[in-house]
Amino acid sequence: MLERMSRDRGLSEELRMMRQSCRDFVDEVVLPFIKQNWKLEWSMVPEERLPIRILEEAEKIGIRTLGVPEEYGGVELEKGTEVKTFAVVAEEIARGDSGLADKMVQNWKVSVLLRQFAPKHLQEKWFKRLVAEPQFLMAHCLTEPRGASDRWLPYNVPEAAMQTRAVKKNGEWIINGRKQFISNGYDAGLYVVYANTNPKVGMLQGTSSFLVPRDTPGLTVARCNETLGCRFMNNGELVFEDMRVPEDHLLVENDALGQAGVYFRPGKIIQASKNLGVGVRAFEVTSDYVQNYVQGGRILIKHQAVALRLADMATRIEAVRALLERAARAVDDDAPDADTLCNMAKVFASEEIMKVAQHAVELHGGNGMMLDFGVEKLLRDAAIFLHMDATVDISKMKIVKSMFPATAGKYAGPE
Ligand SMILES: Cc1cc2nc3c(=O)[nH]c(=O)nc-3n(C[C@H](O)[C@H](O)[C@H](O)COP(=O)(O)OP(=O)(O)OC[C@H]3O[C@@H](n4cnc5c(N)ncnc54)[C@H](O)[C@@H]3O)c2cc1C
Repeated sequence: MLERMSRDRGLSEELRMMRQSCRDFVDEVVLPFIKQNWKLEWSMVPEERLPIRILEEAEKIGIRTLGVPEEYGGVELEKGTEVKTFAVVAEEIARGDSGLADKMVQNWKVSVLLRQFAPKHLQEKWFKRLVAEPQFLMAHCLTEPRGASDRWLPYNVPEAAMQTRAVKKNGEWIINGRKQFISNGYDAGLYVVYANTNPKVGMLQGTSSFLVPRDTPGLTVARCNETLGCRFMNNGELVFEDMRVPEDHLLVENDALGQAGVYFRPGKIIQASKNLGVGVRAFEVTSDYVQNYVQGGRILIKHQAVALRLADMATRIEAVRALLERAARAVDDDAPDADTLCNMAKVFASEEIMKVAQHAVELHGGNGMMLDFGVEKLLRDAAIFLHMDATVDISKMKIVKSMFPATAGKYAGPE
């Protein structure tokens, strides 16, 4: 198929093999599991939704610990193509299930952060645990009830700061506050938590990040959110009440948001790649359907209106892929426009793949609306991407802010 062939372009032999083992895992394990167990997605017992065996199977092909340094038993990727590799693997897994992909990529993203900022002895402790336990998950906690999107606007002012506060006392940090909508928040073993450490300055100068193990006294996992899509990833809410973390658990003091670029740049690429995987799956099932399902005496694809929609789906997917590849290369090359391109790829993917998923369900007619048929899941999964890692409007504001820092990048409030 044309779409599949174009995916081979520019991939090294090694990366093609890696992609093939991910594809086999998806075709032989993930897709059959979803087909046979579609009701599990709707279980209101989060622990029951995704059996551990799926993560154990992922372990066998070595994709669970990407980003973990080799010295701790992880799969360290070549620096110059690390982000490209994340992108290829994330897309393949999300083609099978985007919630499963969410679960795994958080581990890669947080690993990148830990290897950069965590002290050696804590890297050793947590990376070893991550490698040893197939179900071990990590989470990255920024969003709060009173502030998320605005954090990324030019509003670098004290009143927009995080409400979660960390205060240093007697050699430890005491953290109070709450975080919401956190990927893996319900079942992670280790959290990276952002908190305000200087209320007098803007958030770029007054936010710090901390490592918080799940069993830290004062940490409560308050709930698991029941999401519209990506339901095999358990999104959670956390409350911190006089939560004490040792001094060495501080990752970055005060300029943690600026330093988090090391997490966010690959993060946005991974986000767009998962999104692309959802689009590729939508195209696969739809192109199959329209060449087999007969309506009006002919298979659907022979009706021109149907054929045109398929062309539109394929074009959007290719456009997303092209921008994504360009953005991934910019991150791997540490190019000056990498931030801008990452936001472009993330937001463009979310809007285009939403349209692809819409075509998919429409071309399936009534079947497209039936839970047991399975196509509506792609629309639900696609919808989630509009909101993850910044909303569409905020992503666009970040793009223009990075292009015109002196004008669009200035706070619109009083001079
Ligand atoms: C499935 C899922 C997984 C997630 N995972 C994580 C995670 O792992 N870690 C994490 O920290 N967060 C996570 N989030 C949170 C996500 O990043 C936020 O939902 C997103 O940034 C939007 O923030 P919000 O929900 O508070 O919306 P709000 O900020 O309340 O936005 C509501 C609306 O107002 C608009 N808006 C808000 N402020 C402004 C403004 N100043 N100017 C103009 N428009 C504005 C927004 O564009 C949006 O349309 C996740 C969310 C989802 C849905």
